[in-house]
Amino acid sequence: MFARFFAPLSSGVKPAFAAFLLLSSVLLTSCGDKNGDTVFFPIENDLQLGMQVSQQADSLYASKGQLLDRNSPNPRTRAAYAHLDQIVERILESGQVTYRDEFPWDVKIIDDKNVQNAFATPGGHIYVFTGLISYLDNEDQLAGVLGHEIAHADQRHSIKQLQKQYGISVISGLILGSEAGGLERVITQAGGQFLGLKFSRDYEREADEFSVLYLGATDYYACDGAAGFFQKMQALENRGTPPEFASTHPAPGNRIQDIQAHARQRGCKTETASNTGFQEFKRNLGL
Ligand SMILES: [Zn+2]
Repeated sequence: MFARFFAPLSSGVKPAFAAFLLLSSVLLTSCGDKNGDTVFFPIENDLQLGMQVSQQADSLYASKGQLLDRNSPNPRTRAAYAHLDQIVERILESGQVTYRDEFPWDVKIIDDKNVQNAFATPGGHIYVFTGLISYLDNEDQLAGVLGHEIAHADQRHSIKQLQKQYGISVISGLILGSEAGGLERVITQAGGQFLGLKFSRDYEREADEFSVLYLGATDYYACDGAAGFFQKMQALENRGTPPEFASTHPAPGNRIQDIQAHARQRGCKTETASNTGFQEFKRNLGL
């Protein structure tokens, strides 16, 4: 759902960064990413963009007093972070995350009980709202949604979308030389359009499939944990209170069946992991 953080990017972007982002794409010829798609932007752009977006997210939520400090003097908050880190670590150690070592994969908790959402910025900064943790029944569901978000970052979905929308015309405009302020205007337009960004259904499907792949390879979580998450989201929709997640994600619909079918195909374990300490994790967050 990180689309909203592209909005401030439009007004607050540093020209130097804009130049870096765009010039890198000009100077580097197509560097295929590890998964075969041709991406003209190097992963340094994911990292740069991610840093910028996460700094904006941090300052936004810190200003509202909602960004939980992982070094809090409160031992329960620190314990909650240790638990969340462990879930993320299991996914990263699945051996299936392409940029496991290149991206930071830090995770932060935003204490807003009204928001059932999680997101990852490009370059792998992960955010989870307490409203989501509170609403989920078990750790498989949380691992499922984390796997989905990690996949968006690891598969470079936003940078690919940026490239699709602005690639050739922006690059050729730069080569021909744009007038003063041109770079900033391009980024402003990009920011404006990202405000309403939804990933394509293909990217959503891909993120769902990777979630199954990651969780299955942890040998710990039910690999269809994301299906459990979508069932919970669907219940909210049915009650007429669509979660914030729904604003940037297509309705669950057959995604639940697709995830379960994918799990069956892989033959990975779908029993809910027990004794995960998920309830204690919630209690430590006051949920
Ligand atoms: Zn998604």
